[in-house]
Parts: sequence; C-alpha cells; structure tokens
Amino acid sequence: MSVEEFLTGGKLRRITRWGESVMHTKTRPVTEFGDELHTLIRDMFLTMEVSQGVGLAATQVGEDLALFVYDCPDADDVNQRGVVCNPQVQLPEGGQRNFESAEEGCLSLPGAYQPLARPDHAICTGQDAYGQPVTVVGTGLLARCLQHETDHLNGTVFGDRLSNRLRRKLYSQAEGLAHLYPADWPLTPKSTSADG
Ligand code: ZN
Repeated sequence: MSVEEFLTGGKLRRITRWGESVMHTKTRPVTEFGDELHTLIRDMFLTMEVSQGVGLAATQVGEDLALFVYDCPDADDVNQRGVVCNPQVQLPEGGQRNFESAEEGCLSLPGAYQPLARPDHAICTGQDAYGQPVTVVGTGLLARCLQHETDHLNGTVFGDRLSNRLRRKLYSQAEGLAHLYPADWPLTPKSTSADG
C-alpha cells in the first residue's frame, strides 16, 4: 500500500514524554479505518518528519490507539515507509535468531541513546490505513524500529529493556539535554545552542 496520500496535510503535534501515563499503558486496537484515523496518520507522518524520527507510535502524540508510522532504512539502506495498525511482531526462534547491539533512542526521551541488543530480523503483521492486511519484513534499523514501535503500543519503552546501569546512564544523558527540548517540542523547535 502506498502512503503518499498521508504525507501531506498533517498538523504538527506535541510529542509525549516517558512518564506520561499514555506511554506506559497498553493501547486500544484500531477498529475504525475512516477519516478520523486518516487525520491522525497524517499528523503522525508530519510530526515524525519534523522531529527527524524513523518511527512514531500513536501514544507519542497522546493517542491511546494501536498504530505506528515508520520511515526507516533497512539493512540494504533502502528507505521503507508505511503505517501499521494493530501490529504483531514475529521474531526468529532459536538458532535462526541473531542479536545485534546498537544505539537506540526515542523521540519521547529526546537526545539520549544507549546500546540495546535486539534480534536483527523482525516480521510485523497488522492492518494498513484501510484495514487491509499488511506484512512488513524488517532488517537492519527497520527490524529495530518495528520492535521499538510495537513495544510502545504495549506500554513498553526501550528503557524498560535496559539494565539498571544503562538505564541510569540514559536518564542522566537525557537530563543533560533536557534544556534543548521545550515541553511542547516539536511545536516549539529544539534550541540550537545551550543558551539559545
Ligand atoms: Zn520510542
């Protein structure tokens, strides 16, 4: 499915932060695939683009609904773009499973990154913007993105998957950068200097 029609006409939204309850609660399934959903998808694509993310879950614009958008390179550096409603992630089992450790970040804890090992291949199934079945095969960064965004819709943030030591490092890094991100970011843009 092409998502071209959702790439224009969106309204920029504030990005929610870790600690806000919508980020830590399992979302409701999408059951209506009409104009209201399509407006939300447009807003999500614009908000992801402006904040330079590779994926964005509905909870990150404050909506308690199970969908995410992505615009993310795969292992071949080919950009993949789309929307998945009601996503389910399948990961390889046993000997097929290969973990890759890479820096991971989240627009809802902006600026902070820590390494996290995840399977380097993921298949995400769900529905598109019209309720039709969709399957996304993820490799490279896209595999990580599909897992990260589906986690969001189950109320899990990647900090929940870190050791206590790395989680503390992540939070102290985020605190050090917090002055750059206004509370309503990206509605108010990021500061470009420490005192700006
Ligand atoms: Zn995130």
